[in-house]
Amino acid sequence: MDQTATRNEVIWRALRLRCPVCGVGRQFRGLTMRKQCPHCGFFFEREVGYFTNALIVNYTITCLPILFIIAPLAYLEVFSVRVLLTAGLLIAIALPILTFPHSKALWLAFDVLIRPPTAVEFDPHPHEPE
Ligand SMILES: [Zn+2]
Repeated sequence: MDQTATRNEVIWRALRLRCPVCGVGRQFRGLTMRKQCPHCGFFFEREVGYFTNALIVNYTITCLPILFIIAPLAYLEVFSVRVLLTAGLLIAIALPILTFPHSKALWLAFDVLIRPPTAVEFDPHPHEPE
């Protein structure tokens, strides 16, 4: 891992959907995550079932606007219940889909910050997967 990368840089790389280790290689091709970084060879799926915890990140991202926007508006009775339920439902359906790649990238970035990659997690000859 780039030892000079700060926490903010690693998170910024994730938000740009770049490799958290080198910051150059793209993690996704469309909505499909690559197996490894095409630049440094870092394997993104660090173990079997690795991205299951990305669901927690996705769920958190989805809940935040409901918790901090919809719920206060409901409490203040600014809009009707029907409008707020519709807005909440649209957020609950659309946001997980829209933030799917970023959820996985952020999960990977958090994990790389806590548990830096070892040499065995890199392909010595990175290539562009088909
Ligand atoms: Zn990389």
